[in-house]
Amino acid sequence: MELLKERIRKEGRVKAGNVLKVDSFLNHQMDIELFNEMGKEFKRLFADKPINKILTIEASGIGIACIAAQYFNVPVVFAKKAESINLDGESYVTKIESFTKKRQYDIIVSKKYLSPADHILIIDDFLANGCAVAGLIDIVESAGGTIEGVGIAIEKGFQCGGTLIRTKGVKVESLAIIESMDDVNGTIQFA
Ligand code: 5GP
Repeated sequence: MELLKERIRKEGRVKAGNVLKVDSFLNHQMDIELFNEMGKEFKRLFADKPINKILTIEASGIGIACIAAQYFNVPVVFAKKAESINLDGESYVTKIESFTKKRQYDIIVSKKYLSPADHILIIDDFLANGCAVAGLIDIVESAGGTIEGVGIAIEKGFQCGGTLIRTKGVKVESLAIIESMDDVNGTIQFA
């Protein structure tokens, strides 16, 4: 998606450790006009899928998922991150490793909001090593739901997440795929 790539070129900042900062339009301040175009594009890319719910993860996936949901006319469920949880049998739980914070979290979704009748589109801001998306897939599978696809704003194609998820046979559509980036001279190359 050219509009998103343009913003990344203009405002993206490459940090050490393969982290791209896009706080000015995605991860802190949010450009809703841009999100709107992203939502429209996700709808076009998944138009043939019988999606009845969008699943994302807090925090940065929520804004993108909510705007996209208006094009699908479906509710959004977000997985909550928890440092430690009481296992009460009321929630689906899985562990993920945070790419940016290098920590492990439990993520949880209440059993009330996922069921075998659900056809899920997973949406997130970044795909890096695929841990967050794999965790969300795990939760949908625990609920007996169907994964219809994964929609990502920015995929870092030089990390293993894209391959990991696509080899599970899941349709992954990323609006911008970064082939390489360099924190020394600040360059970003797209696939
Ligand atoms: P993964 O689980 O695929 O390794 O990482 C995905 C999650 O880590 C996303 O939900 C996103 O919040 C965060 N993340 C991964 N890489 C980046 C990055 O380069 N920049 C930012 N801002 N977030 C990232």
